[in-house]
Amino acid sequence: MSLTARDLLQRLANDAGLPYHTIARKVNRMMAKGMGLLESIRDIAEEHGLKENKYRIDVEKIVQEAEQILREDYTQTLMISAVLGQMVEARGREKFPAPAFFAFIEMLSRISDARRDTKSESSTEIEDRTTRIIELMTTLVSVLCEWSEKGVVGVADDCPESLKEMARVVFRKTKLLQGGLWTCISCGDIVNVKETRALMCNNCDSRISRSDIHERFDQMSGRNRIGYGRTTIDENED
Ligand SMILES: [Zn+2]
Repeated sequence: MSLTARDLLQRLANDAGLPYHTIARKVNRMMAKGMGLLESIRDIAEEHGLKENKYRIDVEKIVQEAEQILREDYTQTLMISAVLGQMVEARGREKFPAPAFFAFIEMLSRISDARRDTKSESSTEIEDRTTRIIELMTTLVSVLCEWSEKGVVGVADDCPESLKEMARVVFRKTKLLQGGLWTCISCGDIVNVKETRALMCNNCDSRISRSDIHERFDQMSGRNRIGYGRTTIDENED
């Protein structure tokens, strides 16, 4: 089983004897019409007389690998978070899709006990890990969630039980975002998307010094974060 959409498309392209970009374009078109990633792939496989059940993605393994990367090194995780945070605010081709970012935030909440080591990764290593996380997260949400031409419209039928809660959170937050609302990555409050700064509500943004990335990360994934139900409330700052 494949771990990323790219691997799976490559495998299908090889088996069908077509160039990768032909398959990728076809899948993109089908997905733009509201078909799911796996559904589109199965359709193309069938069209080419290939066994459709050969093309699957192991979402549980995606989560395992992403968790492993995020637990590897604290500083590296901070850097990845910072890059993804910038990308989700970017426009155009560099943009990291919001549903994938919401899944990433959920992943962070699972690793709040990650150790802080002092091992220093090279920037190339961090770059590679960031690229990998981007691929894993975008693939994950395209399989966990039900999609239409309007974006995420629910939890996919074949989403495993263990990941349904994550899919529900991604769906809920994406729906809010479509309605112009954003869930502050620090306190979890729902605010107007136009009033956010660096993905946070105004209150959190003014409380947290932007230059202090460590503190900002703690607010995103550490024990003070209360917005996602998995961490306990240490103090109520309101
Ligand atoms: Zn906030």
